[in-house]
Amino acid sequence: MNKMNRIRRLDQIALRIDLEIEAYRAKSFSNFSLVGTVLLQPAEDAIEVFASDEWLGFDKYIFDDWSPRKKAVEVRLSRSMSKVYIKHIGKWKAVAEFLSLLDPATSTSAAASWDVLWAWWRINGKSFRLLDLPPEVRDLIYEHSYGPCIHPYPDSKTRRLGPRGLTFKAAQSGRELLKINAQISREARDVLFLRSSFRLERYGLIAPLLRNLAQRSRIRRLDLALSHRNYFRLFGLKLAGTRLYYISGRVQALRYMQLTSVALHIAPPSFATESDDFDGACQVTVTKWLLDVAWRWVRGHPVVVTGYVKDGEKSEFEALCKQEERRFASWKLQMHAIGGGTADLTAYDEWLSVADADGEGGIRLDGELVEELPKYEVEGSSTSSHLPPPCHCDVPCTIQTWSAV
Ligand SMILES: [Zn+2]
Repeated sequence: MNKMNRIRRLDQIALRIDLEIEAYRAKSFSNFSLVGTVLLQPAEDAIEVFASDEWLGFDKYIFDDWSPRKKAVEVRLSRSMSKVYIKHIGKWKAVAEFLSLLDPATSTSAAASWDVLWAWWRINGKSFRLLDLPPEVRDLIYEHSYGPCIHPYPDSKTRRLGPRGLTFKAAQSGRELLKINAQISREARDVLFLRSSFRLERYGLIAPLLRNLAQRSRIRRLDLALSHRNYFRLFGLKLAGTRLYYISGRVQALRYMQLTSVALHIAPPSFATESDDFDGACQVTVTKWLLDVAWRWVRGHPVVVTGYVKDGEKSEFEALCKQEERRFASWKLQMHAIGGGTADLTAYDEWLSVADADGEGGIRLDGELVEELPKYEVEGSSTSSHLPPPCHCDVPCTIQTWSAV
């Protein structure tokens, strides 16, 4: 029987070496990336190995790995035949030890390392160790696991983000990450707060999300998608001198947060599902009011307006916010330059109110004359306190006549 036929039978020694190589590679990402695929072939001068007449394999194999020179290695089985040893510089070594002594497979290009990473994922997906990956790769994984948008959910059955903190919807992708261990949970949470947008669609979510100071201070992206009425419950509404909705105590939190993005999503017009105050309301009027009352709380943050809003209204408000962002930034620089204390939005608000009281329209910042900003105030913008605001648009405001941007 020639050697190749023997190989087609079960070469148990080669099989065991293969299994040990795979186990070694699967142990860590660094093992995986350093030890490439190894092909084993019996050496030309190999002698067949038998145990009690059972053919087991050979005593010498060609170890064909990434290196240019194929190595011929002598092998032997342990007495119990459960382990294979490889002879290396005159000494018998366990396969793992032998592999750890080899020169690493060198591939330095970024594309090649991504290939290795991908192979690692594919081959070892069920048993890979997240913590063996480089931190920046772990961050990418966390980010992809959560997706761009987080739906917080105050429910004791869901996974908490921190003590007395926010919880996720059961269906939130990536929430399992928080259960793995302390380190992964901490890392994943950091990425979650930094990269994901916290979407608030229900009024009841605002308090639990914003009352926890530690949690609130870590959120960077806020995505408000409230109904018309709930926006006014948050920001308040005063028409023709009558206070129709009081400002929520929670809204002040927006001035303490360091946000890299605030999205105001405007709900569509509704005739039956919103509330008595806003069913059948003119969408143009409501949006105008809404942006008016939101202004005081979001000014200085980077703001986008989405949903059922006219392009003109959206771009006007966003431009105003952009201008205010720049104004706040230059004020901050000025404060740092003169060694002023905390230069956050609350300090800015205070400074604004003093500046307004002094009646100084043009305030010099860095020697530049700052233009007086147009007032964006709802007070007095309507002569009637009637809700819902009637629609006198040429095309009446309905869900069919509006589309989202
Ligand atoms: Zn209308």
